[in-house]
Amino acid sequence: DETEVETSSEWGPGGVDMGVPSVARVYDAILGGKDHFAIDRVIAEKAMAVMPNARTGARVNRAILERGVRYMAREGIDQFLDLGSGLPTARNTHEVAQQENPHARVVYVDNDPIVLAHGRALLAENDRTRVVNADVRDARDVLTRPEITELLDLKRPLGLLMVAVLHHLADADDPAGLVRTYREALVPGSYLFITHFCDSTPEGRELEHLFLSTLGSGRFRSRATIEGFFAGTEPVEPGVVLLPHWRPDTPVTDESAYAGLTMIGGLGRVQE
Ligand code: SAM
Repeated sequence: DETEVETSSEWGPGGVDMGVPSVARVYDAILGGKDHFAIDRVIAEKAMAVMPNARTGARVNRAILERGVRYMAREGIDQFLDLGSGLPTARNTHEVAQQENPHARVVYVDNDPIVLAHGRALLAENDRTRVVNADVRDARDVLTRPEITELLDLKRPLGLLMVAVLHHLADADDPAGLVRTYREALVPGSYLFITHFCDSTPEGRELEHLFLSTLGSGRFRSRATIEGFFAGTEPVEPGVVLLPHWRPDTPVTDESAYAGLTMIGGLGRVQE
């Protein structure tokens, strides 16, 4: 079986089993980062064999993350809750937000222990930024945790990021219901920022099979389902689109650079 990956249990730093891949580390490997183990790299390489543009796809996702955060900061948003934030890489949410507004506050939430370790090291000197280990599926916990509510005021507009994370939740987790719960906790004028794998290309199907069989998550959902996550929000132009087309800094002239890419996303402004 081509998708079978050799596994061996070896304990790495922080009690992490180096024989078990993690979403955060595979994503780091696809991005071309350094914070992953051999097993993660094997899956990343398989992903790039299925979709030669996978690294571009991951970088395009990081690029829209930056544009989206900058957009919100310029609209006056000064607090951000970044769910499923991943390992620190270039241009993290707090760097982008605090470049626009040095007082902006950012809480990162992830359930991967390595994200917590690396994140805390990166952010040690910044008292407006925090990394919290929590499961985003437990919205009540996330929305009431003192570690989070001390820094973010839910009575004021907030930017909620669910960037490349909802496709790591199962249908049984009811992602639409979960997004609704978060959205209902936000005051009008807040923003919902979502990117998600869309099942629009044959490579996407193959990639979904690889991710589900090795990581147990990575679901490609329909455009209609993904658009449905934005219920109760007013779309920010140009709506839910292929990521390179969301308010690019320079107009996209070479579509072929993004051939096969499947992620769509955008921002919605929470309504009264
Ligand atoms: N948001 C970042 C970005 O778009 O660049 C990172 C995306 S990465 C593909 C997905 C992240 O979601 C991983 O770091 C993973 O650990 C995290 N994640 C997946 N399921 C989660 C859950 N149930 N609770 C918290 N974090 C989760």
